[in-house]
Amino acid sequence: MDLRSRAWVEVDAAALRANLAHIRQAARAAAVVPMIKANAYGLGVGDAVAVLEAEEPDGYGVATVEEGLELRALGVGRRVLVMTPAPASSLPAAVDGGLTLCFSDLDSLRALAAEAARRGRRATFHMEVDTGMGRAGLDWRSAETWGREVAALAAPPLRWGGCYTHFHSADEDAGTIDRQWARLQDVVDRLSLPADAWVHACNSAGVLRRPQYAGSAVRPGIFLFGGRSALDLPRPAPVVAVRARITLVRDVLAGSSLGYGATHVARAPERWATVAIGYGDGLPRALGNRGHALVRGRRVPLVGRISMDVTVVEISRVPDARAGDIVTFIGSDRDEEITVEEVADQAGTINYEVLTGLTGRLPRIWQA
Ligand SMILES: *Cc1c(COP(=O)(O)O)cnc(C)c1O
Repeated sequence: MDLRSRAWVEVDAAALRANLAHIRQAARAAAVVPMIKANAYGLGVGDAVAVLEAEEPDGYGVATVEEGLELRALGVGRRVLVMTPAPASSLPAAVDGGLTLCFSDLDSLRALAAEAARRGRRATFHMEVDTGMGRAGLDWRSAETWGREVAALAAPPLRWGGCYTHFHSADEDAGTIDRQWARLQDVVDRLSLPADAWVHACNSAGVLRRPQYAGSAVRPGIFLFGGRSALDLPRPAPVVAVRARITLVRDVLAGSSLGYGATHVARAPERWATVAIGYGDGLPRALGNRGHALVRGRRVPLVGRISMDVTVVEISRVPDARAGDIVTFIGSDRDEEITVEEVADQAGTINYEVLTGLTGRLPRIWQA
C-alpha cells in the first residue's frame, strides 16, 4: 500500500542535517549531543539516528533507560546520556547497556556502584545540579557537602563523567541563563571533578542565545527537529510536514450542521472537504473551528470539531479541489506555510507537544 494514501508525516533529512550544522557552528569547540528522547521528538528514532550517525555526533541524550537500550539495539556505540533519574530496577540493564546515567541523589549513585561491582563493569555517571529548574538535581548552594560525597563514591567501578544543569527559561529570558550558568560555575569551582569530565547546560535556546556557555557539550533537541524556540532566535529549517488526503467533497445547504456538538452550522451554501486525519493521529483537537490547512496552496479554515479519524475543511475558496487532493496541516504548499508554532499557538500548547503528540498511526516518510 502507498503510505501516502491517507495521512502521513514527512520528515526532511537534509533540513535535520542543516539544523545540526547550525548548532555545531554556534557551539564551536563544544561536543554536540542531540537529544532524541520521545522517539526523536516524534519523528521516529530509528530513522533520525540513521541520519545523525552519518554526522558523527559526540553522543546522544535520551530520557529513559529503555530509550538508551533502543539506541544500543539500533547499533549505536556512542555515549548515551540518560537525562532523567533512572529507577533502581532499571540499573542492571543500564549498566549492561553501557549507558551513562544522570543522577540527582547519592543513594542512586551508591546503588549504581553496587550494581556495577556485581556485574563486573565500569559505569559512568553525571550529576545534575539544580540551579532553578527544581524538578531534579542537587542544590547548587550545597555543592561543598554533596560534592565531597560524590567524589568519595567516584572510584572504580564508577567514573564521574560530568556535571550539568538545565535552563528553565532559555527560550524567553537571557538573564536567567546568566544566573543559572553562574551558579553552575560556582558549583564546578567547589567540586573536584576529573579533568576530562563534561560541564554542560545548553539546550537549543541556550546555545543560540548564549553560545559562550556551551561548556564541554550542548544538548540540542527542538531546533534540530525544526522547532523554533522564540521569535528573536534563528528559525530552523522546517523538518516536519503533516499531510492527509481529501476523501470526500460535498456541497451543503445553508443550515447544515457539522461534527460532534454541531458546533459549525453553514450560514450560506458551503463546500466541505472531509480529510482523513483526526486527533487519533495527533492533530490537536483544540484546532477545531480555529485552525487552518492548505489545499492547492490556499489557506482554508478547519470547521466543526475535529473527530478521532476525520477533520473537515471549508473549501469554497478552492473550487477546483477534489477528493484525493493532499491537505497540509503543518508544512508548506506552494507559497503558503503553516508552521508547527502556528499550530501550537492555535491549540494553546507548544511545538514540542505538537511534535511528540503525532501518533504511531501516521507513517513517517523520510526524504533524503
Ligand atoms: C530535552 C532536553 C534538552 C533539549 O531541549 P530543547 O529545548 O529541545 O533543545 C536538553 N537538556 C535536557 C536535560 C533535556 O531534557
